Amino acid sequence: MNIRAIIQKIKKSFHQEEELPNEAVLGFLQVLEHVQEEGCSCDEVFHKIDEYVEREVDQKDAEDLMPLIREHLDLCPDCCEEYEALLDILEKTSKDKK
Ligand SMILES: [Zn+2]
Repeated sequence: MNIRAIIQKIKKSFHQEEELPNEAVLGFLQVLEHVQEEGCSCDEVFHKIDEYVEREVDQKDAEDLMPLIREHLDLCPDCCEEYEALLDILEKTSKDKK
């Protein structure tokens, strides 16, 4: 099932229930569409998160280098948690070296 089909399904089910205000639904759909457009999935982020965090600690330019990862981290609490845990570990490790 592709994302458009999922959105159609969500739209339909919300329409039937009519519990959520339209604005909330639209906002939610926009986030979904946005994530899809950027093409950065949790899988991709998990594969690149080590690199991102290392870059963040060493050069402080991870955000410029991988803006899509940064954007995903802002949107996705799961990946953000992973990122913060890794950042914590790396910062401690790099302090030990010095
Ligand atoms: Zn994610």
